[in-house]
Amino acid sequence: MEKVCFTRYIAPRSARYIAPRSARCISYGSRDRSIFLDKPVYLFIIIKMDKTVLNKIARSEGVSVEYLQESIRSGETVVPLNIKRRKIKKPTAIGKGLKTKVNANIGSSPDQVDVGYELEKLKVALEAGTDTVMDLSTGGDLYNIRKAILKKCSVPLGTVPIYQACVDVVKFKHKSIVEMSVDELFNAIEKHCEDGVDFITVHCGVTLESVERLREQGRLTDVVSRGGTFLIEWMVYNKKENPLYEYYDRLLDIAKEYEVTLSLGDGLRPGSLADATDRPQIQELIIIGELVDRARERGVQTMVEGPGHIPLNEVATNVMLEKKLCRNAPFYVLGPLVTDVAPGYDHITAAIGGASAAAYGTDFLCYVTPSEHLSLPTVEDVREGVVAMRIAAHAGDIAKGIANSDRWDHKMSNFRKHLKWDKMIKTAIDPKKAKEIRDRNPSKSKDVCTMCGEYCAIKHIGDIFKKPRR
Ligand code: SF4
Repeated sequence: MEKVCFTRYIAPRSARYIAPRSARCISYGSRDRSIFLDKPVYLFIIIKMDKTVLNKIARSEGVSVEYLQESIRSGETVVPLNIKRRKIKKPTAIGKGLKTKVNANIGSSPDQVDVGYELEKLKVALEAGTDTVMDLSTGGDLYNIRKAILKKCSVPLGTVPIYQACVDVVKFKHKSIVEMSVDELFNAIEKHCEDGVDFITVHCGVTLESVERLREQGRLTDVVSRGGTFLIEWMVYNKKENPLYEYYDRLLDIAKEYEVTLSLGDGLRPGSLADATDRPQIQELIIIGELVDRARERGVQTMVEGPGHIPLNEVATNVMLEKKLCRNAPFYVLGPLVTDVAPGYDHITAAIGGASAAAYGTDFLCYVTPSEHLSLPTVEDVREGVVAMRIAAHAGDIAKGIANSDRWDHKMSNFRKHLKWDKMIKTAIDPKKAKEIRDRNPSKSKDVCTMCGEYCAIKHIGDIFKKPRR
């Protein structure tokens, strides 16, 4: 593929779009630095993206198609969409100057396998407004579960193919994970891409060197990533480099063929506040940054996954580091959870971290459910998790100045001012829950609520201001 230096490229007139202010303020400036470097750092990613898909996304984002195209080409935005799934109902773009997106994880475990229940979770996640879904199944017939989810999934679908590779080796070949061959790992990746998965998590940045650093430094919670642990087990036993790192070009070939977006996973993400922003985490991020460059050179879209457990005062630093080290690649964080002490409420700890991360420029938030750290989520957990993270994403969008993001809030406040209850409920992020709460405890007077009853401040002040001044 022809390599084009972004900094020397003269954009066609159609592409000279003035990015919204928000898009400019979350860029961490490495573009300007490229003029001091010997080699170009911004290479065009050529995506054969259907114009109708881009039009649809541009309309829903309130940006021009040209802006979207330029951002995709520079790697600052990704459109996770397999070449086989161009016709899905709700394609999405993740990145610079766009609304913060939310992902919902579903999927079976070895202890609980019920395809019907996973499809119910999918339905609820979509109804609650998730932008993407990840199937993280590790129990049952993974192939058929994925097929069933793909069939019903109207938004981009992501997976972690190493789960399938490991489960197949253990379940069908009766070997241990450490006996998995490199081909078995890559065959699973290829199978997922061939099936139509839109983005895959690949823990390419877990290397022998970063594992050694982890051992030397020591951690409170060692490694909490399933994919990261599988790979470390394999690497330590075989005394070999991570195949996803060593044969990264093979991975890029597969991703390019199916136009699958790589989500470069953080296998060494901190699993507790004590381990946040430590040497292994940052070492892995530096390696991932280099892999982002290599993917861009090959025309493969990448985003970068992030932690995990991070104290609130380190969230901004983590966003800044990712944007700097990975040349503004879209950042996809799990939460982050800003305290370790709230099992049962981790959708809230994650939403606090998520709102802060989004406000500082994070592009994509993975939800966390109330079941986190305790069990596989229920359908109701999925709904709660999506809504909580959508609130975080929306709060972040207002803070980072995404155009018109506060219109929704103004609309709600206007209905609230005029005590228009039906409209308030329809406008709510979760109308069903709002209605349930209003209906379960009705006030004697229809136009107020039981919180203040006849002393309703809004009603009183409205009456006062309606009267002419004396
Ligand atoms: S009764 Fe109180 S809480 Fe309810 S709408 Fe009026 S001011 Fe608000």
